[in-house]
Amino acid sequence: DGTYTIAFDDPGEYDRDMLGGKGFGLVEMTRNGLRVPPGCVVSTHACRHYLNEGGLPASLAEEVLERLAQLERRTGKTFGTGPEPLLLSVRSGAPISMPGMMDTILNVGLGRSAAIALADATGDTRFMADVLFRFHCMYSETVLGGLDVPERAEFDEVFAELGTDSDAGTVYDKVWQWCQDRVVEDVGEAVPEEPRQQLLGAVEAVFRSWNTRRAVTYRDLHAIPHDLGTAVVVQSMVFGNLGADSGSGVAFTRNPVTGEPGLYGEFLSGSQGEDVVAGVRTPLPVQQMAETMPAVYEELAAVCARLESTHNDVMDIEFTVEHSHLYLLQVRAAKRTAQAALRIAADFVDEGIHSPGQALQAVTAEHIRHVQRPGFAPDEVAQARDDGRLLTTGVGAAPGQVSGRLTFDPSLAEERAKGGERVILVRHVTSPTDLHGMIAAAGTVTATGGSTSHAAVVARALGSTCVVGCSALEVDEQASTVRVGERVLRDGEPVSIDGGTGEVFTGELSTTEPAEEHTRLGELLTHAHSSADVDVLAKVTTPEQARRALAKGASGIVVGVDDVLAAAGLLAEVSKTLRGGGGRLDTARLESVLVEQFSALLAACPDVEVGVRALDVHADELAEVLDSTQAFVEHPQLALPLGEPELIKAQIRALATAAATVDGSTTPYLVVRNLTDPAEAAALRATRDELDESDRLVVGAYVTSPRGALLASEISAHSEMLWLEMRVMQATMFGIAPRHLLAREPLEGYVHSGLLGTDPRQQIDESVAPLLDSVAEAHANHPQCPAGVRLSAAVSEPVAATLYSHGFRRFSVDLDELAPCVLALGKAAFAE
Ligand code: ADP
Ligand code: MG
Repeated sequence: DGTYTIAFDDPGEYDRDMLGGKGFGLVEMTRNGLRVPPGCVVSTHACRHYLNEGGLPASLAEEVLERLAQLERRTGKTFGTGPEPLLLSVRSGAPISMPGMMDTILNVGLGRSAAIALADATGDTRFMADVLFRFHCMYSETVLGGLDVPERAEFDEVFAELGTDSDAGTVYDKVWQWCQDRVVEDVGEAVPEEPRQQLLGAVEAVFRSWNTRRAVTYRDLHAIPHDLGTAVVVQSMVFGNLGADSGSGVAFTRNPVTGEPGLYGEFLSGSQGEDVVAGVRTPLPVQQMAETMPAVYEELAAVCARLESTHNDVMDIEFTVEHSHLYLLQVRAAKRTAQAALRIAADFVDEGIHSPGQALQAVTAEHIRHVQRPGFAPDEVAQARDDGRLLTTGVGAAPGQVSGRLTFDPSLAEERAKGGERVILVRHVTSPTDLHGMIAAAGTVTATGGSTSHAAVVARALGSTCVVGCSALEVDEQASTVRVGERVLRDGEPVSIDGGTGEVFTGELSTTEPAEEHTRLGELLTHAHSSADVDVLAKVTTPEQARRALAKGASGIVVGVDDVLAAAGLLAEVSKTLRGGGGRLDTARLESVLVEQFSALLAACPDVEVGVRALDVHADELAEVLDSTQAFVEHPQLALPLGEPELIKAQIRALATAAATVDGSTTPYLVVRNLTDPAEAAALRATRDELDESDRLVVGAYVTSPRGALLASEISAHSEMLWLEMRVMQATMFGIAPRHLLAREPLEGYVHSGLLGTDPRQQIDESVAPLLDSVAEAHANHPQCPAGVRLSAAVSEPVAATLYSHGFRRFSVDLDELAPCVLALGKAAFAE
């Protein structure tokens, strides 16, 4: 019994970490009686050994060769010779799927003897030559590091010269020699003729492909650990290139672009699988098989249904048909677009496949942000069509509506994107070496390939926009032009693409907020809301935004006085009036402006919670217009929350006056930023009591500091409302300026290099937990003072879950973060 390998049909318990996703799926399908070509898996342990020690484990070669003997017995075929030669595929497969990022070598095991036997056994010399050519190309590229693989068209010429009556030996010699010359010229060595050497070379090459630039980039991007390693699947070959009753394809149990139910996929007859994935030939929709090979299609549909129901998920299935026999080569959970993820999750609840809780786990806050992205203004699209600006229509492979500068070179795309430009990468076809360009581009367009080609799969994994199979496009990457009929577009020209409809337009199209969503988001959010039972308020600045927030299901709104003034374009003017003469503060103008602004806001939402955070003289924008140094010299008291009582009074009066003008059920409130002391809270309330005898106005604390949080109970005793500002609190605990928590860098790189155990943007730090408990306890002790948490920018799911588990049920978020936040809280509630 080996220590590094297992056969697909070995009994025993194995996990995905050890077998990789591909190996695990093949073992599972074999055990479930599905038709899988036999084979074995070399575990990730061997890869980790290879990566750590710089070489294969000593016993591995022997073990693999033992497995080979077992495979020969199992298939009745022989490796390296006839009468029935065994050919192998040597395939990569990591524990976490990295589609198309690592290497696979097909048709391994072709020496002279095996090749001649293959021709004899199939009676098809052309087939043998085809397989031999393919093997050479893949082996030289992936094992020997070749850059200049022989061209198919050239090969076809060489083969044509041979004539139809040449015997297998002559064909073999001629093709091998021709391929060998090219490979030697390219890499300085030849593909080994000895089949066992080919096999071991291929296994090692797969391990090596773990660390190719593209694989590393992909792992960085998806936060996949670099030390997992890949497994290697060694599997007997089946042939889709044996004629019209053979072929290879990819099927999804549902549409991974839109989420619609029904088999979706592509099939290319007379091909080996890499033809479909590489996108060099454009395959046909899988439904065509219903006509060309109905029995196989029926079997495929049944297998797909079964795989979906055993996994309770939408699956992505690679298959090959050899002489009308269906073979399964891979199964994995389908990568899907955000739109599809939401649709599928909602459908699964309807179909009784998932409970609402399970459905929520299948979607992420990020999915929601994606479908909420702005799209093209519909009238501009119609106009563009009328103006003849629709260049061509391909296959929409990853939705999104984006404009950008036409760019042909992936590295140039990267460069332009770094310079802040939006680019659309246009290629005849993409390959894994284009990954950096696809990451940088706002969208990708290819002339060939279907919706399961490399470009499509990668774009969906990246959440980027993609149109494939634009067969009308003649892409000249050398000249940096693309031609459609008479029209020629050059590098740098603006184009616009729609990854849903597959349309490609010339020129730029402007974007607008998304129209009424076509997704099933609403249903999912209803499940989330009913399980979490939370109040999520939206931070807005204008009445118009307030109305939108309520339409989107916000429980109420919150505003900051400085933000409201800035949005109304009055910030600079009002702050100037504040600096009255003789060291005195003049609040008259502020008060009258606020009455107006508050009245409009309250009128927009007369019956929900409306919270107002008092003017914060430390707010960046305000500090700037106030000319903070000057202002603080004149009014040093401004540095403290209640240092200028007149300022607070003006705001209380303005809010109370505005509240009196609307007749709704709302009780607006004013919270003052950065209160840290119970005495401040008491003073604030006394000020309100003096001014607003009706008591209709509520006042409270907006806590940003550890001291405020630790004294929350005492502060709550004198308050009627308390908000905790999470970002500033976290930043304070780390001693980092709060604004750094809103930006990608420098924190991203810093956390990535291992210098911070917690990313304060993504997680709540341990050091903050006691502060959260203190605030939660304050609310329990003083129920008259609700305690909520303010989350700025993108709501991180782990942050929401931590807060939920600490007992928080009130949140305020940016307008666009309402739905993502509700989802995150719903997930947290179901997980409890
Ligand atoms: P990737 O991880 O990039 O999808 P795979 O290892 O799945 O790479 O191989 C790519 C394609 O090669 C498969 O989709 C399949 O069509 C073909 N292939 C792999 N193994 C075999 C096999 N045993 N017989 C026939 N074709 C195979
Ligand atoms: Mg595959």
